[in-house]
Amino acid sequence: MVLRVLILGGTTEASALGRLLAGDMRFAATLSLAGRTAAPRAQPLPTRLGGFGGIDGLARFLAEHAVEAVVDATHPYADQMSAHAVAACARTGTPLASLVRPPWIRHAEDLWQVVPSTADAANALGPAPRRVFLSLGRQELRAFAAAPQHRYLARVIEPPEAVGLPPDLRILRARGPFDRAAEEKLLASQEIELLVSKNAGGMATYAKIEAARALRLPVIMIARPLKPVGHAVGNASEAVAWLGQLHDDIPCSPRGV
Ligand code: NAP
Repeated sequence: MVLRVLILGGTTEASALGRLLAGDMRFAATLSLAGRTAAPRAQPLPTRLGGFGGIDGLARFLAEHAVEAVVDATHPYADQMSAHAVAACARTGTPLASLVRPPWIRHAEDLWQVVPSTADAANALGPAPRRVFLSLGRQELRAFAAAPQHRYLARVIEPPEAVGLPPDLRILRARGPFDRAAEEKLLASQEIELLVSKNAGGMATYAKIEAARALRLPVIMIARPLKPVGHAVGNASEAVAWLGQLHDDIPCSPRGV
């Protein structure tokens, strides 16, 4: 018997879990991506792209594809998808695990100001013009049009649509992981005075936080949203162990296959 699994992805952890499940005969897993990235990295398992159509759409998908377990491995800030997963899994009785990536912890030397939202981050930059590094998603850049006095450098995977952006914005297209020496060089060469970041956690994008610490630069840190979760697991291996338990609990068919 195989366990039909849906992974809600878009993260390093989801890709790691996908690689583990792709080589494991106990599971038939599908990876779901929101479709924000035009050329997502190739995955070793079947992948579907795009939203499900809210809670109803996800519940329908789970029923139509006879999904027996869901692992929510979305980004810590993808709170809507996680809320939909909790609701749709509750409605359909589908077991749900959530891969929760621990946040970065502030060091004594870190100069963080934690704010609740992107709009608050723009406001926290203050009235005097500064050189600001935005390490955010392309959809979040528009909030900084409310603070047009600053000079922005934004690092994004996909270019943003041109409408509604701050006037003095340069785009740097790059996908992590990044290393600390390169991050220090970038911040210093661009004479960055201040960073705006989410508390993504993990190592892939932590180097900018280390670089800011080394250069004594302030970081405006956008706080994590409250994300509804199912059974919490800490990494891809723990998710496999949880799925393995579900697999072992599947009643065998009469022929024992
Ligand atoms: P979100 O606000 O929680 O989700 C918005 C909508 O996008 C959801 O309601 C759902 O549409 C669709 N969606 C999100 N993740 C999906 C998935 N894995 N498969 C299918 N549909 C999905 O999430 P978001 O912040 O837009 O993030 C979108 C994706 O980018 C996620 O997969 C996330 O892991 C990844 N990501 C996000 C961030 C971030 O900072 N937010 C950073 C890096 C990567 P329907 O309601 O139509 O189902």
